[in-house]
Amino acid sequence: PDKKVKEWKYTTCNYCSTGCAIEIGLSEENRIVTTRGHAGADVNRGKLCIKGLLEHELFESPGRGTKPLLRDKYFEEFKPVSWDQAFDKTAEKIKEIQGKYGRDSFAIVSTGQLLTEEFYTLGKLARGCIGTNNYDGNTTLCMASAVSGYKRSFGADGPPGCYEDFEHTHCLMAFGSNLPEQHPIIYWRLKEALEKRKFPLIVVDPRVTMLAQFADIHLPITPGTDCVLINSMLHVIINEGLQDKDYIAANTQGFDEIEKLLATGEYAPEKAQHVCGISEDKIRTVARLYAKAPAAMSIWTMGINQSTHGSDGVVNINNLNLITGNIGKPGGTSLSITGQCNAMGTREWSSCSGLPGYRLLENENHRQEIADYWGIDPEFFPKARGLAQTDIFPAIETGEIKGLWIVATNPMTSMPDTPRIRKALEKLEWLVVQDVYEDVEMNQYSHCYFPASVWAEKEGCHTNTERRVNLIRNVLPSYADSKPDFWIFNQMAKRFENGQKITFPETPEGAFEEMKHLSKGDNAYGNDRTLNISGMTYDKIEAARGIQWPYREEDDGLKGDPRLYTDGKFQTPTQRANLIPIYFYDNNEKPDEQYPFWLNSGRVVEHFHTRTRTGKIGNCNKFSPTPYMEMNPDAAAELGIEHQTYVRLASRRGDSVVMVQLTHRVPRNMVFIPFHFHDCVNRLTLGLLDPYSRQPAFKQCACRIEKV
Ligand code: SF4
Repeated sequence: PDKKVKEWKYTTCNYCSTGCAIEIGLSEENRIVTTRGHAGADVNRGKLCIKGLLEHELFESPGRGTKPLLRDKYFEEFKPVSWDQAFDKTAEKIKEIQGKYGRDSFAIVSTGQLLTEEFYTLGKLARGCIGTNNYDGNTTLCMASAVSGYKRSFGADGPPGCYEDFEHTHCLMAFGSNLPEQHPIIYWRLKEALEKRKFPLIVVDPRVTMLAQFADIHLPITPGTDCVLINSMLHVIINEGLQDKDYIAANTQGFDEIEKLLATGEYAPEKAQHVCGISEDKIRTVARLYAKAPAAMSIWTMGINQSTHGSDGVVNINNLNLITGNIGKPGGTSLSITGQCNAMGTREWSSCSGLPGYRLLENENHRQEIADYWGIDPEFFPKARGLAQTDIFPAIETGEIKGLWIVATNPMTSMPDTPRIRKALEKLEWLVVQDVYEDVEMNQYSHCYFPASVWAEKEGCHTNTERRVNLIRNVLPSYADSKPDFWIFNQMAKRFENGQKITFPETPEGAFEEMKHLSKGDNAYGNDRTLNISGMTYDKIEAARGIQWPYREEDDGLKGDPRLYTDGKFQTPTQRANLIPIYFYDNNEKPDEQYPFWLNSGRVVEHFHTRTRTGKIGNCNKFSPTPYMEMNPDAAAELGIEHQTYVRLASRRGDSVVMVQLTHRVPRNMVFIPFHFHDCVNRLTLGLLDPYSRQPAFKQCACRIEKV
């Protein structure tokens, strides 16, 4: 229908990490009436998925916060207050808690949904003023394993490839990544590339996902055993002399250690097949296909990251690509498909696990550089990373943490074993929830609520999966008395400056200028910093509809580098990539007599995260109204369970009642539930963590089914 659009305004989608460029349609009355994909954008070329197409409905959706709220006890009624009252009280409580129990007793957990300038400002406040070391983001539930794996292999975070690699590759292997539902527009790019030029698509996933249905080879792997499959592929590649000897000799270190591991024969395909569930013939076939392709690439998402072997899985994917010479060349790469719209921005600039610009707390020079620039004493910084989000909640249980500031994330639905999270929250002396929605589940336990502006009610940048920085323009004024997160952090900073030299820019563009300054120059080992955005400006970003980093001051034109490590120089002290042998430890909770099913979880295309936004959008709910459980019809017949009946699903942590959908998408010993819904699958999931990334093994635990 004609929506009578008077004017189109540029922005970027605020859901997934694809980073689609959007135009927002404004009516004569200056109301937002529609959205459309930007036809000139490299990323999405005019297309949007259902979430992007309906994103304009967010502005007037129900449940939005209108006023700051305060109460002394979480079970009392909230009272509306002024912003100054809310800030003053919260600052007073933070200082009181830190004074009584120490600086790290107040924790902050943010999100991959904020704008990059907001991350930078919150990081400056948390690290430079409040001074807590227990500051993390919800990326620990999502991309932390990719970050850790990239750092271990290449010396720094940052996906080395780009979407254009689909157009050059000769073989694509997708690990635990269901693009058509998770990242529909990246999937469309892949499909377009496949239609133009046929190449093998290999999908590793225990479910017959939508992507697996399009695959040439589907490998229905036993959950949690990806490292075994990759080691076995490496065994075949090295035994048959298919490795890229020149690339390994010129650009890597540690190959001997990998050879030693494989020489044990532990991962020979005839042995590995019994662990990973993929036949030895198939292992040999995919190993040969991958190694012999002139260029081959791997993509992965949560199937790899959300595991006790998440970081090892990423390192092993990098091993596979380094050994076959598939890094830094068109169509040859290790591309982590990020989850949230700005998970990359938080990795780059938030200071959650370090300091801005991929700097490390453990590095004295890095601490000094940031302290000098911010005008603070470097001794104010901790010398090692504090607790991750997944360790912060247990620390609340033990009383180590007494206060918490939660920004735009909803651990009451998103964390594993949510009944335990509820109990932990009851113990807090002060909980601040900053969110667009007053009715977000986390607010049930808060003492103070900061109502935040949504998406295009504010301005700043995102970085997408392929390192492309894109712009959100401020299209509308903030709803009621809600405020941009950037303003909220700045106002809180004023309560902590304490006459120090540290200052905070008044505008997002001012913060962007600080980030640009900090992105120039060399990294710790004298190599060119890959994360260089010094040549970008908001106007250039909009004109280019997104620019990939690195993009330096001296770069001409409007294009950054599409790929990293094209010269074979990595961000390590020797400039060589690390080949790291990965041993497999079988430490998952597995199905047994008492709990005979694997419990798997993931996304559906209509919803995002815990539905705080998409749950308010009519058509997203019409298409995906309730949670459900995929169950194999043969397993259901054995238990006498019928399609669309309700069952009780139980694990060692908790239980949930859910409707059954019979489908051969899941194997006989597995059930699958979308994770978006409150008080559903995460009542049952397990909080076992990856030792490097602290990411939980959401996808590997056991459950049983009871008729109700
Ligand atoms: Fe937004 Fe992702 Fe959909 Fe693109 S694919 S419109 S970025 S949710």
